[in-house]
Amino acid sequence: MGNGIAVELTAARKPKPSQQALGFGRYFTDHMFMMDYEADRGWHQPRIVPYQPIVLDPAAKVFHYGQTVFEGMKAFRAKDGRIRLFRPDAHLRRMNRSNARICVPPIDEETVLTALKQLIAVDREWVPENEGTSLYIRPFIIATEPLLGVAPSRQYRLTIILTPVGAYYGEGIRPVRIHVEPDDVRAVAGGVGEAKTAGNYAAGLQAQEEAARQGYDQVMWLDGVHRQYIEEVGSMNVFFRLGETVVTPALSGSILAGVTRDSAIRLLRLWDIPVEERNVSIDELVEAHRAGALREAFGTGTAAVISPIGELQWRGERFAIGNGDPGPLARRLYDAVTGIQRGGEPDPFGWMADLD
Ligand SMILES: *Cc1c(COP(=O)(O)O)cnc(C)c1O
Repeated sequence: MGNGIAVELTAARKPKPSQQALGFGRYFTDHMFMMDYEADRGWHQPRIVPYQPIVLDPAAKVFHYGQTVFEGMKAFRAKDGRIRLFRPDAHLRRMNRSNARICVPPIDEETVLTALKQLIAVDREWVPENEGTSLYIRPFIIATEPLLGVAPSRQYRLTIILTPVGAYYGEGIRPVRIHVEPDDVRAVAGGVGEAKTAGNYAAGLQAQEEAARQGYDQVMWLDGVHRQYIEEVGSMNVFFRLGETVVTPALSGSILAGVTRDSAIRLLRLWDIPVEERNVSIDELVEAHRAGALREAFGTGTAAVISPIGELQWRGERFAIGNGDPGPLARRLYDAVTGIQRGGEPDPFGWMADLD
């Protein structure tokens, strides 16, 4: 194909699932992208191959020391049938920031973007078109060197898999109920919370399970030092509307710098809505709630885009936010971002990238 990416097409294309029953990350397309790294060769052998299992040595470092990063981004089919990616450059830049934190060699962002576009083109029939659906893209890098010494691996593999995903909100947006976690922490400043690396998610499972057992949808994480300052909600960034000002926790080192977070901040500034990136404590939120000033809360992330929060539970007390419907600002941001993604709205920041 002229760009050095070898393409091996599958002989057996899979049947495609119904667009009504896609769910999230359950069905995978016919092909995947892979590229390998060795210390003396760099990244090499970019290739598109049939979707298939990965065979690894049991001593591969990823299994033992968690040296792995991932990304999550989306492609959309516009009403005119064209396929576009949402901010792929920002996602690949962040992948390199994650890589740097855990000593994974950097990828060439342009090469990987070219490969990603070609992979989507090969599997373009898998990009769903129904309202709210998209193609979720999961690039990930694993340390493959078979050696048990604790040191950066000298071999890696980058893989990109694609999964058509359904409308996140089946019957409209339902505000979620959040358990504010007093004990477990997801990450601490100085650790790896600002990298999209596997261990952060394993760290959150216990509290998430316990919250679910108590009937909550997600966990709100507090900082690991004071157990006071809000960090994130589940694997989303979080925003609060306090009076007329929007506040989101500053990137402190333990918070993942979400692309959706950045998109929301830019849109709010475009709309002349005051937005502050600063520390915000759970005590401040409780006080604001008591004063009637906690008007809205919502999470931001690629999967849900905007996820309104309808209730916080903190130390046995429940704080209802809003009236059971998404707040006006959450609604406006959701409509703006999804409008840009679906191609129905102008794209003032040039966020959408064509396949070719
Ligand atoms: C991926 C992720 C987010 C959201 O990032 P987006 O780029 O908006 O998808 C937020 N927090 C955590 C912990 C994440 O892993």
